[in-house]
Formats: sequence, structure tokens, C-alpha cells
Amino acid sequence: MSQLAPWASDPSRSRGRRIDEPGLACEQGYRIDRERIVHCSAFRRLVYKTQVFINHEGDLFRTRLTHSLEVAQLARSMARELQLDEDLVEAIALAHDLGHTPFGHAGQDALHECMRAHGGFEHNLQSLRVVDLLEQCHARFDGLNLSFETREGILKHCSRAHAERLEHDEPGGVGQRFLAGLQPSLEAQLVNLADEMAYNAHDIDDGVRSGLVTAEQLLDVPLYRRFRDDALAEFPALQRRGGRRLLFDSIRRMREALAADLVATTQGLLRRHAPLDADAVRHAPPLVAFSAPMRQAGSELKRFLFSALYRHAQVKSSTERARQVVAELFAAYLQRPDEMPGEHAAQPRRERAVADYIAGMTDRFALREHQRLTGRVLFADAA
Ligand code: MG
Repeated sequence: MSQLAPWASDPSRSRGRRIDEPGLACEQGYRIDRERIVHCSAFRRLVYKTQVFINHEGDLFRTRLTHSLEVAQLARSMARELQLDEDLVEAIALAHDLGHTPFGHAGQDALHECMRAHGGFEHNLQSLRVVDLLEQCHARFDGLNLSFETREGILKHCSRAHAERLEHDEPGGVGQRFLAGLQPSLEAQLVNLADEMAYNAHDIDDGVRSGLVTAEQLLDVPLYRRFRDDALAEFPALQRRGGRRLLFDSIRRMREALAADLVATTQGLLRRHAPLDADAVRHAPPLVAFSAPMRQAGSELKRFLFSALYRHAQVKSSTERARQVVAELFAAYLQRPDEMPGEHAAQPRRERAVADYIAGMTDRFALREHQRLTGRVLFADAA
């Protein structure tokens, strides 16, 4: 690994783990966190969880797992250029979506609705809950007992009410920055933007693959158009050789330009603010950023994806049914908790236990359970 910058998260100065593990040497750093994440069962379940398209809709669409790997790859290569801790970046990226429900945002909205009177449901908070509590693979503790810095990065957003509760349970812990208006580490800030870069790029690809977004529509998106024109100027034959190669090459150019812009802008901000160490970063303004023109172009792309893809009638029809699956599963388990495995059925806070159980499901397991408990099939094409 390259030398760390003074403002990087140095593992030897970590704020540590919630439960002390005397056998762990600090030079093993955040590599331990990454290993624990990759070997946990919530990580394996990401392979059958929706990103935008429901898992059974096609084999080549992104799933939460391939999305997480793309985020890790992007973030790690930018971290290397910025001399940040690559293991920490990778651990945060691989864990950032562990708390996602089946069926993407539709599933999370439905579960939040079901949990409205019982503390709500937020996928960021659920990711933290998975690594702090729900994973059961260590003899000595619940969860994965990750470092503070990895947990801080996983908790990307948090409402004030949740932050207050976290602060109550863990004073000065990962909830504090939302109450004090502080920033997380540079590694966490980097993964946050790498997440955005990854889905903006791969949703163009998945949108075209699905047939819901056309190549012509994309010409109206200036950020994409610029790199498509560059690709054609360099390789005019791409025009004749079919759309996919041109699409891939344009997206690759766009992704690389976004990464170069982010690294250059961030280097400029770091020179200007020159934080003394990783803790000074937390008291500075956000220091990982795109340039203003790139941020503007990225917002236009995001708006396009919203109207053309995420709100497409076909996607909406799937998400409506997905919400129904989650809401009906919630009602069924609440009424018949013994239908859940013993460790969930035995939890005293029944609504939270049901939410934890449903949130952990893959798309296809949720559909099977829904059919078993209600006798109805809402996605005939998944059977
Ligand atoms: Mg993500």
C-alpha cells in the first residue's frame, strides 16, 4: 500500500472497536473489517437483492452485490491517488448496502411505512444494525465488532431522532456527528461519492439493456453526450459496429472523467484547508468533492435517470407489487411470528424483529415466503 497522507485514517490511530479484542494487532488495520464483511451472510445475500431491476428480470442487471463491488473498485482506485487508507475505503464500500431490503427502494419505503409507529426503517441505520448486532458469526460478540471508522462510514445518513438514540446508547459514537454537524473521515466521504458515481454510470447501462432507455434519449444528457462524441471522434467505426460497444466505451470515459475530476478537486480542497490529521477533517467542511461544473452535469444525469428510468411505468409497476409483497409479509409475520425462524420469533420487540427478518431477505426468498404465507403470486414471471 502507498504511504498514507497526514489526513488519511491511519489504522494505528483508530478509535477502536466497541468490544476490545486484545489479540488484534493494529497493523492489521481495517483489513480485518473487510475480511469480516466479505465472510458475513448479509454480504452473500446482496447477490439476490435488487438494485433497480428485480432480480428475476434479467441475469445481467446490477444487483446490490455487483453494485457494491463497483463502488469498492472506484473508491479504492481514487483512494490510492489521494493516499487515503484503501482497506478502510473498501470495507465501507462493501458494507454500505448491507441493510438494504429486498426490492430496492420500493422495499425500504414499504418497510418504513409498516414501521412508522415503531421507530421507522432506514437502510443506512439497518446496515449499521447488521454489522453491530444482527450478524451471528462470532463466538464472543453479536455482529462483526468493526472499527469505529468503518461504522462511521457505513452510517452515511441518519435522522436527528435516530442520531439522538445512537448517542444515548453510545455517547460520542457514530451518532454524534449528525448532532454536532461534523463530517466523517475522507475515506467515508469518498465512498459516498463513489456510490453516486457507480449508480449514475451503471444505471445508464442497465437502463439501455432493459430497453426502457433508448440511445437517442441519452443524446439529450450533456454529460453522456460529451463522452460519446469523444469515443466516436477517436473511433468512428464504433458508429457502424453496433450500439453496445459505443455505450460501454462512452460510460467508461465518463466514469474515468468523473474520477479524475473528483481527485483533482479534492486535492485542491486538501491543499487549501490542509487538515492536520484525520480528526481535523471531521471539523472541516466536506473536502471530497466534484468541481462545480461536474456536480451540475451529474445532477442533470441524475434527473434524467429519475424521469426516464426510476419512474418508468414498467419499473413503477414492479415497485408497486414489491411494496405489496413487503407490506403483506410484514402483516403475516406480525400475526404469526412462529412462521419466522426461532431467533426472530423470540425477540421481545416484535415489529423490529419482523423488520429485521424481512430486511435480510433476498428478492426471491421474499417472493417464496409471500406465496407460502398468502397463497398468492404477485410476480408470475419470477416463478
Ligand atoms: Mg449504494
